[in-house]
Amino acid sequence: MTDPLYLGDPTVREFEARVERVIDDGDAARVVLDATHFYPEGGGQPADRGALSGSENWPVRDVRKTDEIYHTVEGEGPTVGERVVGEIDREHRAAHMQYHTAQHLLSAVLLEEYDAPTTGNQLYADHARLDCAYERFTDEDLDALETRMNELVGAAMDVRWYTLGRERAQTELDPERTRLDLLPESITEIRIVEIGDGIGSTPNGEPSGPSTVFDRVACAGTHVSNTAEIGRVEVTGRRTQGSDEERVEFVLVDE
Ligand SMILES: [Zn+2]
Repeated sequence: MTDPLYLGDPTVREFEARVERVIDDGDAARVVLDATHFYPEGGGQPADRGALSGSENWPVRDVRKTDEIYHTVEGEGPTVGERVVGEIDREHRAAHMQYHTAQHLLSAVLLEEYDAPTTGNQLYADHARLDCAYERFTDEDLDALETRMNELVGAAMDVRWYTLGRERAQTELDPERTRLDLLPESITEIRIVEIGDGIGSTPNGEPSGPSTVFDRVACAGTHVSNTAEIGRVEVTGRRTQGSDEERVEFVLVDE
């Protein structure tokens, strides 16, 4: 199985790996590595782009996780056993980390201040949208959301990630923020992402007290390590997604 290194340190943009499997798809190939920092599409976060290089250079067009993590490259791809260098598109990944962390803040604010649980989200490198269960936001609501989001960015809260056993996660996580029942039974270790100060926490290692943190959810995406890295949030609009469902759209502006 591929070691999913992107779950540990999301700041790595270049790494070495060994090719374990190559599946010929005609004019493309799917490559399985022994370890990867490429993020496979999931949780509303797009796949990383970049390249693998060894005896040749192969642009990575897509990364998907099914039974394994498959890197789709152009051409025939490398050969099994070959050592390759993976290089991740820096700008895209950096933006995905910012947007993903901003999405956590927005979900938390919507739940706390509007009692509106998140029902879906999709982020890109230059905009994002989030769907939630709510009747209708006014322009004043959107202004207030934007103000609150920027306060939370300005609060420069630390962001940490670690894993918990499923049973412990079940007793500790807020069911309104994380639907653990939607995760397959086969997943026994739950990856937690938490924002805000905790008691006795160590960065990206030990869990801290759930009551002391701003937000704590299960998530397998990549995030920045402090909310200050998000940049300025601009809420750009809303639209109805059917009865009692609203979509909020936002962009991030680097300062
Ligand atoms: Zn996340």
